[in-house]
Amino acid sequence: MAVDTKKFAEEKKIFLEHIEKEGLRRTAQRDLILEVFLKTEDHLSSEDLYWLVHKEDPNVGQTTVYRTLKVLTDAGLAREVRLGDGRTYYEHHHDHQHHDHMICTGCGKVIEFFSEELEAMQDKMADKYNFKLTHHSLRILGICNDCQQKEVNTAASGAQPRVRVKTNIN
Ligand SMILES: [Zn+2]
Ligand SMILES: [Zn+2]
Ligand SMILES: [Zn+2]
Repeated sequence: MAVDTKKFAEEKKIFLEHIEKEGLRRTAQRDLILEVFLKTEDHLSSEDLYWLVHKEDPNVGQTTVYRTLKVLTDAGLAREVRLGDGRTYYEHHHDHQHHDHMICTGCGKVIEFFSEELEAMQDKMADKYNFKLTHHSLRILGICNDCQQKEVNTAASGAQPRVRVKTNIN
């Protein structure tokens, strides 16, 4: 995976400054966790990140990963996301544009999207109710394209006459 070294250096600097400010100790394990997190452009749970870090250094414990994620969140480098399965995921926050998520309930795939119209609409709704909007996260649940295809294929191979007739016409 290509890593933007300039951006990485900047994020690392933010992390180290935050650690110093909070009077935390800089350790090789924390550095590694930071590195693995920043290299992964994904929505990771603490456990996901733990396994990725584990591959690099099996001595890093799950608690250390969890605590470091909290530090990353406090430093503004990570953001918590809830995708509807009750778990907490983390994604990059620094320098990342706001976006919302579509989540496939079939395979768990997450699609990130951004719509100016939707954002504006949400502001308008908040205004209407004189609601002071501080932040929002929009989550759309459904079935992704791949899973829909799979469903069609499964149905077509089953003994369902109507589907077969349709297949013949095409
Ligand atoms: Zn949004
Ligand atoms: Zn899917
Ligand atoms: Zn995201």
